[in-house]
Amino acid sequence: MGLPGVLLVDSDDRLHRMCATAARIHGFDADVVTTAAAGFERMAHGSYSVVVADLEQPGVAGRSFLEELCDRYPGITIVALVRGSAIDVPRSHELDTAIATVVGTPVESEIFGAALHDALDHHHRRVRRKLDAVDHSTILLVEDSDGDALLVVEYLSEICGARVTRATRVEDAAQILRGVSYDFVITDLTLPDACGLDAVRRLQPLAPNAPFIVLTGIDDEDIAIRAMQQGAQDYLVKGQLDAPTLRRTLRHAAERKRVYNRLVHLSRHDPLTGVGNRAALRDRIETTLARARRRELGFAVLFIDLDRFKAINDDLGHDAGDAVLIEISARICACVRTSDMVARLGGDEFAVLLDELQPTDHPLDVGRRILRSIERPIMLQGGEVVVTASIGVARYPDAAGSVDDILKAADTAMYAAKRSGRNNIQIVGEVAAEDRDRVSLTHGLQHALERGELSLHFQPQLTLDRHRVVGYEALLRWYRPGGVMVPPAEFIPLLEDSGRIVAVGEWVLARACEQLAIWRASGYRDIRVAVNVSARQFEGTGLIDTVGDCLRRYDLPPPCLELELTETVLMGDTSHVKGILDVLRRLGVRIAIDDFGTGYSSLAYLSRFAVDCLKIDRSFIDQVHVDRERALITSAIITLGHHLGLEVVAEGVELAEQLAFVTSARCDLAQGYLLGRPARAEHVTAALCS
Ligand code: C2E
Ligand code: MG
Ligand code: MG
Repeated sequence: MGLPGVLLVDSDDRLHRMCATAARIHGFDADVVTTAAAGFERMAHGSYSVVVADLEQPGVAGRSFLEELCDRYPGITIVALVRGSAIDVPRSHELDTAIATVVGTPVESEIFGAALHDALDHHHRRVRRKLDAVDHSTILLVEDSDGDALLVVEYLSEICGARVTRATRVEDAAQILRGVSYDFVITDLTLPDACGLDAVRRLQPLAPNAPFIVLTGIDDEDIAIRAMQQGAQDYLVKGQLDAPTLRRTLRHAAERKRVYNRLVHLSRHDPLTGVGNRAALRDRIETTLARARRRELGFAVLFIDLDRFKAINDDLGHDAGDAVLIEISARICACVRTSDMVARLGGDEFAVLLDELQPTDHPLDVGRRILRSIERPIMLQGGEVVVTASIGVARYPDAAGSVDDILKAADTAMYAAKRSGRNNIQIVGEVAAEDRDRVSLTHGLQHALERGELSLHFQPQLTLDRHRVVGYEALLRWYRPGGVMVPPAEFIPLLEDSGRIVAVGEWVLARACEQLAIWRASGYRDIRVAVNVSARQFEGTGLIDTVGDCLRRYDLPPPCLELELTETVLMGDTSHVKGILDVLRRLGVRIAIDDFGTGYSSLAYLSRFAVDCLKIDRSFIDQVHVDRERALITSAIITLGHHLGLEVVAEGVELAEQLAFVTSARCDLAQGYLLGRPARAEHVTAALCS
């Protein structure tokens, strides 16, 4: 007999050379292939005791190579290589059984050799166990005729040394099965307390995993076949019984049951991720709902839909898409208890059933945990991707009715979450009012610009040494018909969601420049105007043209115009944003970072992007006179800004103490209610003239 054969499947050249050498040193005959397809090709022709492969090896139609291998070769034994977190990848029962050892990479020769020997032992044990599938089995025999029972018991002990328990009535057998499980159940159909298919119907639910064999009289084949349709695995005809037939029947029954269980598994699980499927989720909600009604328990269903997942499939291919789905399903599983259920409903939709919620448990907490875990970057072969999700929550009894009603409620809440800006969570009940407002606002906003409902207010910025006005920030206002003002914090996100902020932003820029030209024409030639620019205006290059057009049309020197952008803009596609900012700066326009201190505040970007000005967020200024820490941070930002040659503005100065603090900290400019509220241009002009 030759050396035991090992097949190594790995695309990493260095790793597989190392493994092959180690395998040979430790007495194995190693073959190496670098792709999943080549692995199957070799498996078809060679005879290998052990396969070594990366647990995350991409494989056939997006399933891992190892899952597919276990399906095709149920007897195979595996040494799984893992890199980092792959150890937690969810896997099928079959793969779990096949994996003898898990080895982390980089691989050390000694450890790898020991792993191969362990795997070989594991393999031999499995082969032996398979040959002996029926030997020493425990069998429950339900037979009222002493003669027939004696015959069966004799044959059984002759062929496989089985341990047999006998019952003469279905009721007795049921009693026994409630306490003990058996490898097989063999039952007569005609018993003192049962006839026809009664025995199978009553006993099978009590032994769902045991293969069932029925004993029938010679002319009862019809009923035997009906018994198999009811779930029995095979039948024996009493007059034709002998030892080889009995042995073959046991083996067939065991094999059929295994295949049946596998089919049941497939029909209730998602083949890609291994979590439950829609049918399994519905059944689980059904039973949970019934129990919740009886015992007044709470539960919740979370609908999770990935945001813009289609782009990943389109841009990176379906294998990458599958890898993302597998990773995300593993992350969702890690966020819930084992008694909860995770299911994939298809495409990029998942659902979670949170069982037995106490009144103090809040499903939103779990939802938020899931959102945070999904948005962590996912490492793929071609780099990393970031995925976000929208979650809708239906909590019983706030959401009630049928299973469909509950699922629909969670789905509706999920759509509300998507509409309110993605990477977001909404709960049934709380959706309604808030969502209605949003819908009405969004609707109203569609024509706000055309109907002249938008206008600008201007708020002065003053120097701190001489209290001289250097410029004004233009702030957008929306007065709905009837004169109700909607705060920018409410409607600007809606404009951003719909993309209309781009058109509105162009209008703001033009209006602000027009106003500045009017002031300049009245003799105020030194003042400037600051305009807020949204991240979406940085998509594409339209902003450059808009700014250029405005400067030309109103004949303004570029340094009179300042664009305020938030840190999030700089966190986006940095090379694209940097390109645009460079062009704008070359034009001579000023760039300010708005709300500084609230975002990532990565100091790195301050040196990467050329900017002119930092606006310290209102939340710092608000506290400088009472909170030592905030005061220190504020002073530090001012010093830092000056070191980088930037002008620093304090936003939201409302009190004399705050003004005194930022003045003594040598801040350059201040803006705030204390110095002037945002006002219509006419009022500003009046103030300038007075
Ligand atoms: P922002 O750019 O940080 O604007 C400053 C905000 O602080 C303004 O709120 C202003 O009215 C307010 N403010 C100024 N001084 C004080 C003060 O002393 N105390 C208090 N409590 N608040 C003060 P507003 O007008 O509600 O604007 C909110 C935000 O909406 C702005 O914050 C800006 O991010 C955004 N926004 C406003 N207009 C536009 C626009 O035309 N385009 C874009 N993309 N965003 C805009
Ligand atoms: Mg601003
Ligand atoms: Mg600000």
